[in-house]
Amino acid sequence: MKYDVIVVGGGPGGSVAGMTAASRGLRTLVLERAARPGDKNVSGTGLSPKCFRDFEFMRRMELPHMRKADMASVHLVDKNNKEKVAVTFSPSDDAGYAEAREFLTVNVYRSELDPWLSGLAVQAGADLLCGAKVTDLTRSRNGKITGVVTDDGRRFSGDIIIGADGVISTVARASGIREKWAPSEVAQIINIDYGSDAGTIDASIGSNALHYWYAATFPVGYSFFSAEGFHVGLGCYLDWWKKNPQYYLRRMLEVDGVQRQIKLAGGRPREFQNHLVTFLTRPKKTYTDSVMLIGDAAGFACPYEAEGVYYAMMSGRIAATVASDAISRGDLSEGSLSEYEKTWWASPIGEEFIGGDSIEGFVRRIGFNPDAAAWITPLFNEVLFGLCNVADSHTNNARKLPGRILKYLPELADALKDDMGPLAIAIDNPPKKGPSKAVSYVLRKTMPFLLRLLAKVSASSTNRYNSVTTPLVMEHFLKPYVQEKLKKEAQKR
Ligand SMILES: Cc1cc2nc3c(=O)[nH]c(=O)nc-3n(C[C@H](O)[C@H](O)[C@H](O)COP(=O)(O)OP(=O)(O)OC[C@H]3O[C@@H](n4cnc5c(N)ncnc54)[C@H](O)[C@@H]3O)c2cc1C
Repeated sequence: MKYDVIVVGGGPGGSVAGMTAASRGLRTLVLERAARPGDKNVSGTGLSPKCFRDFEFMRRMELPHMRKADMASVHLVDKNNKEKVAVTFSPSDDAGYAEAREFLTVNVYRSELDPWLSGLAVQAGADLLCGAKVTDLTRSRNGKITGVVTDDGRRFSGDIIIGADGVISTVARASGIREKWAPSEVAQIINIDYGSDAGTIDASIGSNALHYWYAATFPVGYSFFSAEGFHVGLGCYLDWWKKNPQYYLRRMLEVDGVQRQIKLAGGRPREFQNHLVTFLTRPKKTYTDSVMLIGDAAGFACPYEAEGVYYAMMSGRIAATVASDAISRGDLSEGSLSEYEKTWWASPIGEEFIGGDSIEGFVRRIGFNPDAAAWITPLFNEVLFGLCNVADSHTNNARKLPGRILKYLPELADALKDDMGPLAIAIDNPPKKGPSKAVSYVLRKTMPFLLRLLAKVSASSTNRYNSVTTPLVMEHFLKPYVQEKLKKEAQKR
């Protein structure tokens, strides 16, 4: 049988593509290399509230081992591998929709999520074939892509091929859409999957089920809890590792707080896992004649922390809709499928990449960088210690506080100037008109002088006019700046 759409890969992206194509009346085939969807995938996953906001069927999801996380903790570890700070946060009452106000993630197992999603694709009318590993695309004599071939020689023909086959995508390579990812574009994530009992995790962890470990001794790590198990792991760009990744995981497992969690949660190591995920600053080409790439195959995992299920599902829906329109038009050319790129750029997928190249500066030099944690950890600790400790009088503590934290400000100022500032500017609504060269020149010449003078005067505690200048700086510089920013924010909403 000839199919309208062949989806290669039965992960979340492939299943939503299959479900959407079939529900639009297209003859749809989903090919999955594993014996059962989910068998070969990352085992645990946190599903974001966006999944439930934008996909109606997700609101009916009932999997045996889900755990809603309505709190998350960030643990800061210093260069002696000692946890110094832990802060916990919850959903904001100001979040834009009900699910986002209710929880941070729903943690599930892919061995349960993927079969459930592929079942929905089958219910919608798609054919699902497991144990079918696609090794190449088939072409007609004139080079037009006509279908796929599997490792056991089976051939399937279809008008449109949707590559939903993950980070190491055969469809991407065989269609010529892109080459292999560069090591700087991919992160390697390793973790240990622990089994446990629901009651033990309920009692020890509850719904504070997402823990991030930001450390000076290993790249950013996590301990995420599902109903009856959890993951402890870490990851970084492929081109970052100075030692074997397992060395860093061992360092993480030595941290008291991590060990305590594993013990309290009654963790029994089940499996060591090693996966890749893309970290792009801007996705590359995602389509050609008769072919579209979705999800991880397209590099759509979010470039800040690799959330990818939502973006795979969203791109699956967009690609299947574009496929359906192209088939009705009878035009499967690259030009016709360019609608796919336009649509995903205009969707939440494109929105994640608006920060462009500045994302990398922020993630590489701050978020994923143990050297940054080496000063951020003591800085946070000094602030909290300075505010809350009772080892000294509060007056004395307050006097010492600036001295304790000021020494970290040069690094903070550099990070604000080089990484956080550029990212914030890039993701803000860019003004329609670019800056005038003449005005920029005058600002660059005068502002350093004026601002330095202002800073010098108000920073000097021995200056007898300090009690006059400091309130003036607050009143006429800081306050108007913040008020203006808040006004602009309110206008944006
Ligand atoms: C350690 C780790 C933790 C993560 N945690 C989260 C998280 O908490 N939340 C989140 O949203 N995202 C998370 N992500 C990202 C997320 O896993 C991916 O972005 C998401 O799974 C992408 O979905 P997909 O459908 O595009 O690809 P995949 O989920 O990779 O599915 C691809 C499917 O294609 C099949 N396949 C591959 N090659 C072939 C072939 N040649 N022929 C046939 N079938 C094939 C595979 O078996 C697989 O079933 C994490 C990633 C990693 C590595």
